[in-house]
Amino acid sequence: MTSPVYLDYAATTPVDPRVADVMSRHLTLDGTFANPASRSHMPGWLAEQAVESARRQVADLINADPREIVWTSGATEADNLAILGYLRGNRERGRHMVTSIIEHKAVIDTAEAAEKEGFEVSWLTPGADGRITPQQLADAMRPDTVLVSLMAVNNELGSIHDLAALSQVAHEHGAVLHVDAAQGSGRISLDVEALGIDLMSLSGHKVYGPKGIGALYVKRSPDLRIEALIHGGGHERGMRSGTLPTHQIAGMGEAFALAAQHGEEDQARITALRDQLLSTIADIDGVCCNTDIQVSVPNILNLGFDGVDGESLLMALRDIALSTGSACNSASVEPSYVLKGIGVPRRLALSSLRLSLGRFTTQDDIERAGQALRHALTGLRERAAP
Ligand SMILES: *Cc1c(COP(=O)(O)O)cnc(C)c1O
Repeated sequence: MTSPVYLDYAATTPVDPRVADVMSRHLTLDGTFANPASRSHMPGWLAEQAVESARRQVADLINADPREIVWTSGATEADNLAILGYLRGNRERGRHMVTSIIEHKAVIDTAEAAEKEGFEVSWLTPGADGRITPQQLADAMRPDTVLVSLMAVNNELGSIHDLAALSQVAHEHGAVLHVDAAQGSGRISLDVEALGIDLMSLSGHKVYGPKGIGALYVKRSPDLRIEALIHGGGHERGMRSGTLPTHQIAGMGEAFALAAQHGEEDQARITALRDQLLSTIADIDGVCCNTDIQVSVPNILNLGFDGVDGESLLMALRDIALSTGSACNSASVEPSYVLKGIGVPRRLALSSLRLSLGRFTTQDDIERAGQALRHALTGLRERAAP
């Protein structure tokens, strides 16, 4: 049996073998395994050096200073730290934040937790292209708005926000901009300086690094105060305590260095593969593109298939590892809140699939996926309308 074609890179990427190699050198007695906070011996110093060199690799990809990088367990924790940490640390300045209804759950749930603490949240609805416009943001800003949280690239659609324009609006109204860039890093240019980003969440495992590691970029500025969520030994300048996982950090550093070297060529190759996939299925009736490809990354393609049942389609596509945005509740299947959020009708949303490509996707993978889709759709339609 051939293994399934992996087209779920937006859920997670495999670790690049070069990253795995670096990680394996930070685990065992003959490697750089020591506690980076151990100041009294050489193994500790070497581990600290490994951590600081990775910090620079991550900082370099986003044009930040290494001192602006705070290690976390992933983008989820970075989102929590950015939103709750900033709101709590700036209570006296205002109690209002702005975000959107198609953010990742790590932002949505955290903003809802802030609401329960007495903060107020404005929830913006994007256009059909999956983006919030600068004008929409300007209309939502209030004198007591302290924080705006909008993602760089949407994980279900691939839509890219105009971060430069959005940060300008946030700053004009005296607020800071937090960006969840888990899907953006290594895919689009994320120069925090040029884009005017104040806080930015990053994840290792969306960029061919390991799971369980991420970072929050915190702009160095006297009035950017972040209150810690996790208390302890005062690591990471007091913003995030806990022994630093040297192997995870070294892996994320290598992954981000590889993204700096190969990100652009990856995306160029993936654009050609995405176009190949689109042309394979172009003549099939009732296929619609939920992704607005003019404003989206090439590695994410969300397609709706009119007149077929989503569950049956997924069953027929067992040889392709892909994702529906649907969520199974106890009683029913609920369509993706992101597709609902951009106005895709419920029925179409339930028969939509996200295909996401990556560094190791081959032409052969795309041919197999295109054929499988074609086969599944014709089969299901024949059965539905004999
Ligand atoms: C994957 C993802 C996250 C969560 O990242 P983890 O590192 O798995 O916690 C957050 N936001 C977006 C947009 C993501 O795609």
